[in-house]
Amino acid sequence: MRLFMATLSTETNTFSPMPTGLSGFEDFYLRHGTATQDPPNLMTEALHLWRAKAEALGWEVVESLAAIAEPAGLTVAGTYDRLKAEILGDLTAAGGADIILLQLHGAMVAEHVEDCEGDLLQALRGLYPDAIIGVALDLHCHLTERMRAASDLMICFKEYPHDDATPRAEELFDMSLRLSRKDIQPVMRIYDCKMLGLFLTKQGEMQNVVQEMNALEREPGILSVSLSHGFPWADVADVGARVLVITDADPELASRVAEQFGRSFVARRDAVTTDYPSIETVLAELTPQGAAPVVLADMGDNSGAGAPGDATFLLRAMLEHGFDNFASGLFWDPIAVRLCQDAGEGAQLQLRIGGKLGRESGQPLDIEAKVMAIRSGLGQHLGPGLEPLGTMVWLKLAGDVDLVINDLRTQVYHPEAFEQLGIDLARKSVVAVKSTFHFYAPFARIASKVIQIGSPGGSCPDFGRFTYTRGGQDCWPQVLEALE
Ligand SMILES: [Zn+2]
Repeated sequence: MRLFMATLSTETNTFSPMPTGLSGFEDFYLRHGTATQDPPNLMTEALHLWRAKAEALGWEVVESLAAIAEPAGLTVAGTYDRLKAEILGDLTAAGGADIILLQLHGAMVAEHVEDCEGDLLQALRGLYPDAIIGVALDLHCHLTERMRAASDLMICFKEYPHDDATPRAEELFDMSLRLSRKDIQPVMRIYDCKMLGLFLTKQGEMQNVVQEMNALEREPGILSVSLSHGFPWADVADVGARVLVITDADPELASRVAEQFGRSFVARRDAVTTDYPSIETVLAELTPQGAAPVVLADMGDNSGAGAPGDATFLLRAMLEHGFDNFASGLFWDPIAVRLCQDAGEGAQLQLRIGGKLGRESGQPLDIEAKVMAIRSGLGQHLGPGLEPLGTMVWLKLAGDVDLVINDLRTQVYHPEAFEQLGIDLARKSVVAVKSTFHFYAPFARIASKVIQIGSPGGSCPDFGRFTYTRGGQDCWPQVLEALE
């Protein structure tokens, strides 16, 4: 048996003006068949597991591309074509495979291809029609009929924050093995919930939703149940939450369960979503708690959802409100990082921070700051994986305000992003992080309170700010009657 495996991952915010070019992959993570020689990250955990399981069975393993870019705007046509060609070329060079397993994000949009994953899967299927094709997906994907038709098995993460990449990858491997032995005959069906939203699975009703999926998978004939949350900042035809059910040779059961579960999810739309308060509302009522910092999430500027990562709306408002003992990061500002590197640690500088990428960045902020520390090559944990941080600079402003800027666009996942520089978060009254949900668990452990702010920016959770023309305009909450 020969297993072929690869990772291709970016989440395209089609409203972002920033192109995703090859440098977006080179800067973040790009390996040509060697990813399993590195420590795992969220999108390569699956490759590690698949290699270990295949080798234990005595299979040949052909490892191809692992390409991961921090989300931004449309992927440049030549970049997508090149990455796709590398995967197809590696497979052809190997003489095909019995099983093809891919870890894909599922929300990659190129200038010339709206459904990159469907396009890639269709090309693989065209080359080797008899190969088993299995796909592990981030739940923030656009599940399309093209993807379904071109693959045998698709499984999405169930948890957001994503801490279940490895168990999902294991399920995919085991089902592919059973299929290769003809023990099962998977049939997949999708139900479109026509909902845009952000659904945190670690609390409230979404915990029940995940438990119900697990319970359904124990019922006879049902092999797998996925809920793709969709990636809402995308003007594509297949945007929105969808249910995917895999049954054993029973298309009617797959359709019925997908629709029933989808309808029950839709009925709970108000319980599984949240309205996020504005910056002004939060700051007007914010009273530091004393013992531990209040953690604020700048949801509108999460580079992990394709926002610029250099928006100044929240920082400016905090300074104007007179907050003088807080930490804030990560601001993506390679120019300011470069100036700080030239000046060196200990330098006192006038700097213009952020606000450079476009409208969603707000205006740049002029500050006077001391360069406290400069560090390169550090990482921050996201689950078991370590995500890169680039070169980081700790800046201290008047009072006791600590800013962290860096030269690699990434959201804040973990207090390590501050503490490794020497910033003592326990001494801060407020800590502001550019992230949506992934920061939550590690920061909740050090916080007196966590407040997620519906701040303006490229990943603002108020979807009414964005203009949908391809599919989102038919979804709740853009049209309330969409679900009736
Ligand atoms: Zn995701």
